[in-house]
Amino acid sequence: MSTANVYVGLGSNEGNREAHLVGALEALSRIDAVAVLRCSSLFDSAAVGPPQPRFLNAAVALECGLAPQRLLTILQRIEQDLGRRRNGSRWSPRTIDLDILLWDGEVVADPNLQVPHLELHKRRFALEPLVELAPHLKHPVLGVTVKDLLIRLDPQDVRKLMATQWPEASPLVNES
Ligand code: AMP
Repeated sequence: MSTANVYVGLGSNEGNREAHLVGALEALSRIDAVAVLRCSSLFDSAAVGPPQPRFLNAAVALECGLAPQRLLTILQRIEQDLGRRRNGSRWSPRTIDLDILLWDGEVVADPNLQVPHLELHKRRFALEPLVELAPHLKHPVLGVTVKDLLIRLDPQDVRKLMATQWPEASPLVNES
């Protein structure tokens, strides 16, 4: 089975935010053909767009033997299972949001799935955790490392937090 190195961004701004991130991490760990390799730290960030509660964000590195569309379907199921209700608004609070940020050096341009995530290069709350995991990863469309994307970005209100339940930037399994 061929596998890809995949980076998923996690966010929550409703209820017990850290518990929702931990719940998503546990669900990701249970997917057949997916191994969670590493977790970033947690970041507390101001919501983008209209006023709403602050988000808790993180990113995880996966080794994934699934096709991108299959992983997206599973991520959406996990969102539902963790109480995410879609009400048609892009801006409403959510128990959990799971985004595929990068898929090796691949580009996916399907109607329902774009990878790299189209907003990745504009969002400090997605880039900060990603840079912790893999600073030298190249964005396959922009041709720049994620570290350089972060350096070029305007300041945004994103603060690193101490975790209580989340496995603070430690490897879950040995990558070798
Ligand atoms: P959100 O409100 O952020 O959860 O956006 C969800 C929508 O974004 C879904 O309808 C997905 O089909 C779509 N989408 C497009 N690209 C991605 C991606 N890279 N990761 C996750 N969802 C995506």
